[in-house]
Amino acid sequence: MNKRLRLYAILGIFFIIALTRILLTSKNETPQKKQTQKKQPTQKQQFPFNIIQHEKLSYNEFMKHFNVIGQKRVPGTKSHKQIENYIIGHFEKLQWHFEEDVFTSKTILGEIEFRNLIFTLNLNHKIENDAPFPQENTMVFAVHYDSKYFADIDNFIGAIDSAAPCAIYLQIAEYYTFLFRNSQFKHLFSKQSYITQIQFIFFDGEESFGKWSASDSLYGSRHLAEKFKQQNRLSYMKIFMLLDLFGHKLDSPLKYYFDSTSVFHQQFVLIENFLREHNLNALPKERPLFSDKKADGMIEDDHIPFLQNQIPCVHLIPDKFPEFWHTEKDNLDVIDPNSVVDLVKILVLLFLQITTK
Ligand SMILES: [Zn+2]
Repeated sequence: MNKRLRLYAILGIFFIIALTRILLTSKNETPQKKQTQKKQPTQKQQFPFNIIQHEKLSYNEFMKHFNVIGQKRVPGTKSHKQIENYIIGHFEKLQWHFEEDVFTSKTILGEIEFRNLIFTLNLNHKIENDAPFPQENTMVFAVHYDSKYFADIDNFIGAIDSAAPCAIYLQIAEYYTFLFRNSQFKHLFSKQSYITQIQFIFFDGEESFGKWSASDSLYGSRHLAEKFKQQNRLSYMKIFMLLDLFGHKLDSPLKYYFDSTSVFHQQFVLIENFLREHNLNALPKERPLFSDKKADGMIEDDHIPFLQNQIPCVHLIPDKFPEFWHTEKDNLDVIDPNSVVDLVKILVLLFLQITTK
């Protein structure tokens, strides 16, 4: 292995072809169609091999965020507001475009205000001067940042549900921005890549306040899908990836739920194998994070309102929930540093793969 990251040369072509197919067959074609038809990348990437051994990808870095987010985050409360501000402040520092989607909704606890947070990085630097919003192929990474309200549990913090996924996203966004703005790598981020816009969406009100139902759950995602639909913005959403219930030692690897996007799981498996072959991951071979097998059934989560609008979705969630799910045992004790660090690296490599030459 030479000093350069050959990952893309080895795995990239297969993935890019498959991804292009997803983009071209997604139901709503956009004026950007031409972009998806540019020639396939064939050159080796010039990222130094150690980009995935950077301090910013460490567990310590994850914990900085987790220590703030890993507390009660029930919508309408003070600590929820604090965490919301922390997330906004983080992306402000990174200079991503920020918009919020604020609304109120009736719940069994009365009228509650919810706030979805949307952060966007346009790879062609279009975002400031393009009104109303750059209409480009967007890949969405979604998560929910509220924690579930329990009348009978005092300190439910939802470590995997979804404090850890939020912390992972903040960490990845920071490192990706660092690479994107680094003059050494600038030329590698391509205007010709299939995805030209990355968007992180932090949904509010994913959890139900009482028993889960169509009306008591997914407050934030239902509202935003409807709003984006009315604004004609859903057609630019080419992939919607949702991470939930992650951070603990998985009982079994993450499987895929949708045939249309199974290529992402194949890619995750390839990236994970690549990391393992080069001793760059932490988890042993017997306990991989990803599987290219299909999960049974489907899990209701924030992707549903987007799936119903024909957006190709990738749902990263264990098909069997751990026993501590929705109990106060879902706290820092269950977080597995190796699983966290490996996922961070895998997602960073995926980001690079979809947005570089
Ligand atoms: Zn939950």
